[in-house]
Amino acid sequence: MLVTISCTRPVGAAWPATDLGYLLHKNPSRRQTFEQSYGVAHVLYPEASDERCTAALLLEIDPVRLVRGKSKGTPDFSLGQYVNDRPYAASSLLSVAISTVFGTALHGRCAQRPELAGTALDLRIELPAVPCKGGPESAERVFAPLGWTVAATPLPLDPAFPEWGDSHYVRLELTGTLRLAEALTHLYVLLPVLDGSKHYWLDTAEIDKLLRFGEGWLTAHPEREWITRRYLTRRHTLVRTALARLAELDDQDPEELGALEHDFDDEEPGTETTVPQAVESGERGPSLAVLRRAAVYRALLAAGASRVLDLGCGQGALLLELAADRALTEIVGVDVSMRELKIAARRVRRLPEWQARRVTVRQGALTYTDASLRGYDAAVLLEVIEHVDDTRLKALEQAVFGAAAPGAVVVTTPNSEFNVRYDGLDAGAFRHSDHRFEWTRAEFADWAHRVGATHGYAVRFEPVGPEDAEVGASTQMAVFTRKNNDDDAAKGAA
Ligand code: SAH
Repeated sequence: MLVTISCTRPVGAAWPATDLGYLLHKNPSRRQTFEQSYGVAHVLYPEASDERCTAALLLEIDPVRLVRGKSKGTPDFSLGQYVNDRPYAASSLLSVAISTVFGTALHGRCAQRPELAGTALDLRIELPAVPCKGGPESAERVFAPLGWTVAATPLPLDPAFPEWGDSHYVRLELTGTLRLAEALTHLYVLLPVLDGSKHYWLDTAEIDKLLRFGEGWLTAHPEREWITRRYLTRRHTLVRTALARLAELDDQDPEELGALEHDFDDEEPGTETTVPQAVESGERGPSLAVLRRAAVYRALLAAGASRVLDLGCGQGALLLELAADRALTEIVGVDVSMRELKIAARRVRRLPEWQARRVTVRQGALTYTDASLRGYDAAVLLEVIEHVDDTRLKALEQAVFGAAAPGAVVVTTPNSEFNVRYDGLDAGAFRHSDHRFEWTRAEFADWAHRVGATHGYAVRFEPVGPEDAEVGASTQMAVFTRKNNDDDAAKGAA
């Protein structure tokens, strides 16, 4: 089993292509060997010049060890036993090797060449044999939307007997200009997806892996449902939980997921014994998202707001609810993501005219001061601050509380203490892969008090969602009120 990764030095670049060795943390002048539970992984460089450098990861799989190891008795292997294609075909074993041998690169870290880790490189990846049960088109389907030029050539079952036709293996060549870490996460997630089987039993940790390594590309991928299903090898409960979490990342309507159910059934009928139940959210009654929007709306009413900003509005779920209240005369949604905004704008256009005309959405980055956001009665940051790097959070505070300075600011964020109540969320893990932090109630209170003191706001706190005696509620909300509220100097100062 073999994968090669080649990097070509761009014209005029100051660094040699052999810097690929720094990114992979493997010296181009040495051959290295890593013991794995199922065999041995070798890293070597068939070519290493200033212009072009190729790293090869070669797995020597020991089928006997594989059968005796972790994969023993998994449904995908029990039949294969000692005779299987694993020594030759790229699969979940290659993903495991990528994560153990190139783990630092997979996470996008490189102490010696940090700027190079963040740079898109001219890459070419070659895999001589990839099991691709959906045919060569499925390789195109999953890799092309990520910016790769894909060449997937079916391999004949036996070159000596062309009449036997093609096998379900392809030779795969990917070329593109991407960051190395992106390239590795694509391989890590998508090779097992094309293969459609895993060599180990799956549990909910697999969902976290999918979301972690799919970060930044999976939510927007046109084939994300297919990828999720195949990655989780069609374990219904895992798939549905993963899709629900992806949808929440994306703020899609979870109800829309119901439409996927029949999809499952036309793939290998009868392989699953349990019919998927509703997504286990662990919540009774209205969803947390609904409770959050209701709490925010109540806070806006209490503040007597009529002109409001929804900062980081996403796909506009709150905008739609606020539009129904005539007392709100102007509602502005701001988000940095054009993709989210397009969806929000489409949803607003579908509202009755009297509602739609009071709502506008526009693009903006909350970490930059924007004079046109000044003078509003209230601003909402609904599940937004935890998406902002802590190094940029100060800039957001200044832009929102310092420069825009609305009469009130309503902020919601996860209460990390509550995470222990979510099954399947590892200790210390975040609820979503895009979260940069999740705070305890004390951490949130510290932050809010400091921001309030710096910018002249009083602050009060409210739990959102059913409260647990020990760990509190799932969501925490802070309502900031500007202390010099009567002084309307800020208004119209723009
Ligand atoms: N408020 C929405 C969406 C929450 S998800 C809701 O609760 O449904 C977080 C949103 O914040 C995303 O849509 C993301 O694009 C946006 N966001 C993150 N960082 C941002 C920034 N710096 N400027 C503007 N929007 C940002």
